[in-house]
Amino acid sequence: MMAPSGIGMTSETTRRRLIKRLRDKGIQDERVLDAMAAVPRHLFVDEALSSRAYEDTALPIGRGQTISQPYVVAMMTAAVLREGRLGKVLEVGTGSGYQAAILSRLADKVFTTERIGELQRSARQRFHRLGLHNIYTRHADGNEGWPSQAPFDAIMVTAGGDIPEQLFEQLAEGGVLVAPETAGTHQQLVRVTRRQDGYEREVLGAVTFVPLRTGLE
Ligand code: SAH
Repeated sequence: MMAPSGIGMTSETTRRRLIKRLRDKGIQDERVLDAMAAVPRHLFVDEALSSRAYEDTALPIGRGQTISQPYVVAMMTAAVLREGRLGKVLEVGTGSGYQAAILSRLADKVFTTERIGELQRSARQRFHRLGLHNIYTRHADGNEGWPSQAPFDAIMVTAGGDIPEQLFEQLAEGGVLVAPETAGTHQQLVRVTRRQDGYEREVLGAVTFVPLRTGLE
């Protein structure tokens, strides 16, 4: 048999180029770069868009939603990592499943919720096909978190709005939550760390995410 050409080859090369770009933009954590080099982003978008999968840009995934820009995925992932491997991680907003796939390489278990059933089902199929057996998905409103699996070492919200109070309560001590929060007319990425005596808050920078909504579709 001949070696596969086309997207197979192209994606190898273009993926490596993306990793270099992320490095140039200031992503230094090798664990993050390794995870992003290993996950085939072109399998998380429609075939018609797969040739653009290794551009550093957000892309539509249907239902008015987007797969986040790789740089933002890298930055948010780096923001929840500490020394050593993460135990349990919660993501709100599965979307394509790409961010969850990245997290699955850096954590023991990833729990991810998506409020749009169609997107949740496609993401679940991708996890299955890629053999990512440590990702658990639910068609659910992520505003409630995933109480039966709490506490989490890290919580990542990938839709922008007011951060639901319940999520803070589901953080382990020393756990970190990263979320895009509405600030006036724009959004800013915040990192909240749960300490023994309260919560510590940092603003990481301006971002643009699709809105965090309530209820199911
Ligand atoms: N992390 C995704 C990007 C997702 S875009 C990826 O890697 O592809 C944000 C997603 O959050 C959308 O799919 C949207 O439907 C979902 N979402 C918005 N509000 C939500 C909520 N309350 N609960 C769960 N998912 C939500």
